[in-house]
Amino acid sequence: MTNEMPLVTSKEMLIKATNEGYGVGAFNANNMELVQAVIETADEMKAPVILQVSQGAIKYAGLEFATMMVKVAAELASIPVVLHLDHGTDFLQNVLCLRAGFTSLMYDGSAEPLQQNIAISRKITEIAHACGIPVECELGKIPKIEDNLTEEQVSNLMANPEAAEKFVEETQCDSLAAAIGSVHGMKEDIQPLDIGRLDEIRRRTNVPIVLHGSSGVLRTRKDAEEKGIRLKDHEGTVEDAIKHGVAKINVATELSLTFIRAMHAQLEKTPGEKDMRKILLPAKDAVKTRVREYIELFGCAGKAEVAGASGLSASEIKYHE
Ligand SMILES: [Zn+2]
Repeated sequence: MTNEMPLVTSKEMLIKATNEGYGVGAFNANNMELVQAVIETADEMKAPVILQVSQGAIKYAGLEFATMMVKVAAELASIPVVLHLDHGTDFLQNVLCLRAGFTSLMYDGSAEPLQQNIAISRKITEIAHACGIPVECELGKIPKIEDNLTEEQVSNLMANPEAAEKFVEETQCDSLAAAIGSVHGMKEDIQPLDIGRLDEIRRRTNVPIVLHGSSGVLRTRKDAEEKGIRLKDHEGTVEDAIKHGVAKINVATELSLTFIRAMHAQLEKTPGEKDMRKILLPAKDAVKTRVREYIELFGCAGKAEVAGASGLSASEIKYHE
């Protein structure tokens, strides 16, 4: 039986999260089992959730399939679900997703010169806002592990707080993917974040902040201690980032790795298996366990009934408290 819960936009959901000091998980929807694992877990925990589709996933599944998977999942759930475009790197991709019914967009202009990034971001926010859809934009560059950068190079790519103020004002973006030290695609959670920079960006802007590349970021201070990683004064973990106002936390790599590892384990256990579902089901269950851990870490369990439901009045962000 369906609860007929339609997709919601990320606007109120993220403002609410910012104001109340928790994070919303944004998990990448790469196949049916992943979508089901995320939605079922979020539903069980009464957590608002964002399912995001990257350009790679669109290429893999096709835009129609990617869209419908998330829409159907949302209709079957009793929690608010957002269908978000992850790293749309051009204007056209954003328009296509807007037309396909995405309820949240992202333009990633980090490969462009700043003025070009601002100009395209603004163009997209203008048409998306006309349709009531919010847009996340990226400032600084959140690199990939494959870029093989040094610590110093990662640091040089981080978002400049002063530029962030101007960027948010000029682009009219609804949330900001600010580079604060994370790196996409890391297989281990060992990277610290620049919390001092995050504070400065928060002071100068008035939109929810998005953390990318979270799979590679230290989750808690306790984790850092256990791993023998000493944090500098201005550095922190995912837990700290949420306390300091990060509202949307993207997780892709860790779910993919969890899925693959569980599939490998099952294949080894039952090498002659001819029913693929018996290989995929343990992988889905392993992802559910991981999503549960993240939702607990983000503090968004039980926040479903208020976060992002239509008609919600939380349209303004509270700042400088
Ligand atoms: Zn990202």
